[in-house]
Formats: sequence, structure tokens, C-alpha cells
Amino acid sequence: MSTFTYPEFTAKQAITANDGYRCPSCGNRLNPENAGKTYRCLNNHSFDRAKEGYLNLLLAQHKRSRNPGDSDEMIRSRQRFLNRGYYDNLALHISQQLSSMAINSRFLDIGCGEGFYLQAISAVRDDLQLVGVDISKTAVRLAAKRPFNAQLAVDSSFNLALFDNSIDMAMAIFSPFSPAEASRVIKPKGYLMLVGPGKQHLSGLTAHIYDQPVPHQGNHKFIDNSDEFRLLNEMDILQTIDVEGSAIADLLHMTPYYWHAKPAQQQYLRTLERLTTDIHFNIRLYQNCVDSLP
Ligand SMILES: [Zn+2]
Repeated sequence: MSTFTYPEFTAKQAITANDGYRCPSCGNRLNPENAGKTYRCLNNHSFDRAKEGYLNLLLAQHKRSRNPGDSDEMIRSRQRFLNRGYYDNLALHISQQLSSMAINSRFLDIGCGEGFYLQAISAVRDDLQLVGVDISKTAVRLAAKRPFNAQLAVDSSFNLALFDNSIDMAMAIFSPFSPAEASRVIKPKGYLMLVGPGKQHLSGLTAHIYDQPVPHQGNHKFIDNSDEFRLLNEMDILQTIDVEGSAIADLLHMTPYYWHAKPAQQQYLRTLERLTTDIHFNIRLYQNCVDSLP
């Protein structure tokens, strides 16, 4: 299975005044101080930069739990699984689409997880400023350790610490998001790419867990009844893969199916040497219809 060749590591991109973060408390600009180790607004709300280079901009009131987002085990399972190349075709498709899009400044990954897809994009669009947010600190910390340049923050996709009309294009891969909030930060006529599960996604895995096939709901359900975005095009990627050895347990752990699998089913899946399954992605490209420029 093919894997990506990634560019050499260089220092994290500097956060400048025009493309920075807005304070999640009061909406004013967060300015770097102390050599970028702290970001502070004029109302003295301050946020420290982690040693890995990301900012934690998640306010206590936007956390629904002490450690919000996917569990650490889910995130680490997903990273191991993705790093073995099973979803490389999806990353390749997204990168190819990005390589031909007429965007020239900032690209946002909403729910960037541990940065797999952002890193793939960085390999083809090193001219873009990449921005990644995720509500899980573990995920953002892992993304920050990947060898690519991006502004990364622990942040809520329902209350983005980004300015209005500051993003050329955003994407959300299997991630929940707010259409109103995405529309606010994306420039007028800017783009939003959504990736969700197609009908046959992981059918070889779910066949071991459910008696009947379970229909998937993509994250476009958030947008289907909204006025903010217009669907430009849609396509599916369908492929059959053989998942081998410990990657089978990782695949189970990285999905919600883990919570639905009975202990005996989990045990059985762990004993398999190979699991053949379809992977099926639905990719939709939207355009922001809301002209929110003053
Ligand atoms: Zn503030």
C-alpha cells in the first residue's frame, strides 16, 4: 500500500497579526508576547503556548467533560491505523483536489484530529497557511508533533477562535461542526469540503457486530437544511482493503462501533489475522453563500 512522502520538518509558522486568533472570551485579537510563549488580548485574557507549539483556546464552559472529544485510546488507535496507509486513497484524493483549487491563503481543518489529512495537504500546498482545530488536547498534541507547518489549537468547532472571513477553505472529515460558525469564518464564496461515510463504509467490520446493515449518517446532516452553503459537487470513493493483525483492533477502537460490539464480538475480531472490508467515503464540496463582509 502506498504511503506519502512528507517534506522535511521546519520551524512552526509564525502567527502574525493578520491571520491570528481571536480571544474565545471577548473576541479581541490575541497578541503574542514573551517570544510567542503566551497569547494575550487587551482584556488580559491569556493563553499559553504548549511546548509542542499549539494553543489551548478551549474555555471551561465549552467543555462538556474534563477531557472532551474522542478518547485518548480512540485517537491513538486512529493514528496507528492511518499511519499504516489504509486511508491513503482518501488523503490522496483530498490533496489532489486541493492542489487544483483556486485558494491562496488559509485552509482550516475543523476537527483535525491527530493531523493525518492536514499533513497530506501540506505536502502539496506548502503555499497555504494551514490551520487545525480539535476539541481533544491529546489529538492536537499529536498533530503538533507531526513534521509539518500549521497553526494548531485546541478549540471548539462550535465557537471557533478565528476572525470572520479569515479562511479561504475549510474541511471537516467525519467531524461535527456548526454551519453558521463555519460560514462566519470562511470568506464569502469560500469553500467547505465535507467527508463522511458512504453506504458501504466498513461493511466488513459492521457485519461482525450488527445483524442488519446500519445506515450511516454523514456530517452533511448538519448542513442539509441550512442556508449558508450551496452544494457544488459530490463524489464517492469506494475501495476494498485487507486490514491485518493489530490494525483490526485499532480499526474497531477508532470507530463508534467499539461501543456497540459485545465483548465476545470484540474478542473474536482481535483473533482475526485479516479482515476484508469496503471503505466508502462520500465527499461533498460546498460554497459559502453568506456574504458577511461589512
Ligand atoms: Zn479576551
